[in-house]
Amino acid sequence: MGDRQHLTVRPSHFPLSVVSATQRALIALLVIVPALSAQGTGRAPAKGVGYAGIDSVQLIADLSALSADSMDGRRIGTAGNIRARAYILRQFLAASLSPFAQRFTFSFTAVRAGGTTTGTNLVGYREGTKHPERFIVLSAHYDHLGHKNEAIYNGADDNASGASGVLAIARWLKEHPPENSVIFALFDGEEEGLLGAKEFIARPPVALDKIVANVNLDMVGRNAKGELWAAGATPWPVMRPLLEGLIPTAPVTLKLGHDTGTGQDNWTQQSDQGPFHTARIPWVYFGVEDHPDYHQPSDTFAKIAPGFFVHSVRTIAEFVHRLDEGLEPVVSAKTRSPAGK
Ligand SMILES: [Zn+2]
Repeated sequence: MGDRQHLTVRPSHFPLSVVSATQRALIALLVIVPALSAQGTGRAPAKGVGYAGIDSVQLIADLSALSADSMDGRRIGTAGNIRARAYILRQFLAASLSPFAQRFTFSFTAVRAGGTTTGTNLVGYREGTKHPERFIVLSAHYDHLGHKNEAIYNGADDNASGASGVLAIARWLKEHPPENSVIFALFDGEEEGLLGAKEFIARPPVALDKIVANVNLDMVGRNAKGELWAAGATPWPVMRPLLEGLIPTAPVTLKLGHDTGTGQDNWTQQSDQGPFHTARIPWVYFGVEDHPDYHQPSDTFAKIAPGFFVHSVRTIAEFVHRLDEGLEPVVSAKTRSPAGK
């Protein structure tokens, strides 16, 4: 094996959807153990079921598969997008998610520059044990920019990281059934103007008044300062105590903001939580600040910080757990129009 320091781990090393035991050991040995010991805030491992329960080996394997060259940048309406869909649907089945009306795929006509095409949202759910009639939507877009000339836009951070995070939390909630029902929504067409999320709000699988909150993940795979941002607590103050309660123990530096004012600094409408906000559904968006590889062919698997990625998904899983247990105030807040609208 030689000096594994120099061994480069490539997406093609893990083609299968569910990693074998050997591949598990390999990922753990080469990627996760070193990264987790190197990364983090140096704080003692946090107490919290979400922090502990995420299967980091499969999480990394999903990220590597979705950002592989074979996915050809997953642009809406392309063969690469179809391959990404097939991979994600296999993960839906592995997480034993339930379909709505016997289907996980919800196609829609996407009007974009250069004509129309067909987009496909992937939607499944896990029924709640106490309040099956109430729904939390955990979302992430799985599409990206495709390729231009010969350059593939692998979109490892944007947004194979978020899509893999949703799948990891779906698997975790299989072992830790939520009190409220949770919808897992992998949106298409985000890069063309939040098309999949708008379609979901226009034709939801359950009535919008049953959807209590949205938790959206977009770019959670790397940050040089170890910072993960949570936006939403200003327009939806009911989310602030839940988020602030995470800060002392989160294995990443969790920062609240990017949800007020005008301009690029306000992320409210810059990813799939936007249509939920417009529909007056409380939301939290998790993401990192832009990096030099944003929307570049260089946004690859090799640039992902595995330690930070695993820690940020664990932090989000813990948030989902606390939101699920503490959903009551959010239910009542939803009936009141959001502050600062
Ligand atoms: Zn994105």
